[in-house]
Amino acid sequence: MDKLKIKEMEDLTSSPVDARLLKSKLEKLAENDSPESRDSILRRRRGVTFSEPASHQPQPNIKNESEEKVPRKQSKSRTPSFSSAELDRIMTDVKARAEEMMGNAGAFVGKANELACNYWNEASGQAGDIARYVKEGAEAARDLAGDVVASTKEHGKELVSKVIETSEQTVETVVETAKFVWEQWKVCDFKSLPDWLQDNDYLHLGHRPPLPSFKECFRSIFRIHTETGNIWTHLIGCLMFIMVTTYFWVRTDLVFDTKEKIIFTFFFVGAIGCLGLSFTFHTVSCHSETVGKFFSKLDYVGITLLIVGSFVPWLYYGFYCEYLAYVIYLSLVITLGVASMIVSLFDQFSQPEYRSIRASVFICFGATGVIPAIHSAVSMGWLNSIYQASLGWIILMGVLYIGGAVLYALRIPERFYPGKCDIWFHSHQIFHVLVICAAFVHYHGISEMAVYRMSVGECTSEVEVS
Ligand SMILES: [Zn+2]
Repeated sequence: MDKLKIKEMEDLTSSPVDARLLKSKLEKLAENDSPESRDSILRRRRGVTFSEPASHQPQPNIKNESEEKVPRKQSKSRTPSFSSAELDRIMTDVKARAEEMMGNAGAFVGKANELACNYWNEASGQAGDIARYVKEGAEAARDLAGDVVASTKEHGKELVSKVIETSEQTVETVVETAKFVWEQWKVCDFKSLPDWLQDNDYLHLGHRPPLPSFKECFRSIFRIHTETGNIWTHLIGCLMFIMVTTYFWVRTDLVFDTKEKIIFTFFFVGAIGCLGLSFTFHTVSCHSETVGKFFSKLDYVGITLLIVGSFVPWLYYGFYCEYLAYVIYLSLVITLGVASMIVSLFDQFSQPEYRSIRASVFICFGATGVIPAIHSAVSMGWLNSIYQASLGWIILMGVLYIGGAVLYALRIPERFYPGKCDIWFHSHQIFHVLVICAAFVHYHGISEMAVYRMSVGECTSEVEVS
């Protein structure tokens, strides 16, 4: 990080520690009265202790529970009285400190925004510290006002209420400002991203910076950036499949037995798993390099789940009367699924330069379905297989999946319009939408196969024809 900027950040961070000044002011006043009254003031500080930081980095406040339990009534009896002149001075001081704190917080907002893109990690850390310190300072001002109130009832309500009002406003404004600092981040251009977030250089602007907080990552769902479309397409798809699954299990007009429902559920679990893991990956991918890598692996595991889950009901109904073929093909699919999962667990697999290899692995895995498709077409006749094995729907599904994967691998259309598809219509979003369409086409296909099976009844010794 730029050393000059760090210095500026440190100056800003350490300057609002006005709480210490307020504390020393209060101690001075208390010393003029008696050691007991000074002690009583310190005891009533709501447990907020301002210790000298070990370095220029702000330190978190330490709460002393035993002190907090001291009843306020007891200490009140030892509270010092202030003269009107002292009260005026205190109130002016509170106001001045409050303004200074707000000024510092405002300056920090500007600085944090400026640094947010390139150095979000550092900026957010500083924001957290400053937020804490500004809040402590504001609380100290409020406590000071509380002390004044407790000891100077006889000096006039107006003055007291002014002090309270000023302090309360300070607390509110400063806490709000601190929250604002913490929550703000701006999208950045591709070149400002750290290496581990640089995936698609055809998308020029609108990238999320690293957001090292899961809460912030999930809040980014509601912001517009390069991942917004990726997140929402698969979030909505996942919710749709959860609803379809629920409806499938609770509807009473279907005559599926439990075994068939379980067979369908393999597909539903694959679809929900794939879309859910993809949604999660796209949401938290900017958290940190480690988290991003871990969830990208889960994303690939989800794709494998969907492919395996799609094969299960299709093979079940496609080879309903050829049990041996069903077992052989299912074993092949499970073996390939496990192999794909192992390959996708390698760190290199998620690197941008392996984009085409990734797409090829999943395309080849899905394409192994051609073998059982030809097998069933030959054994029952091409025309029959269109009805019995929903061949048309399966081919459409294949076209959608492969089409999506090719667009993803070649990064079309952003390759031809660099910087024009940053937020909407880039290849990854189109791929996501095609995956959802393909999954629904598959659901329709296997439903038709199941309906056909119910209409013809159990197997006869011969291969059936419609
Ligand atoms: Zn994706």
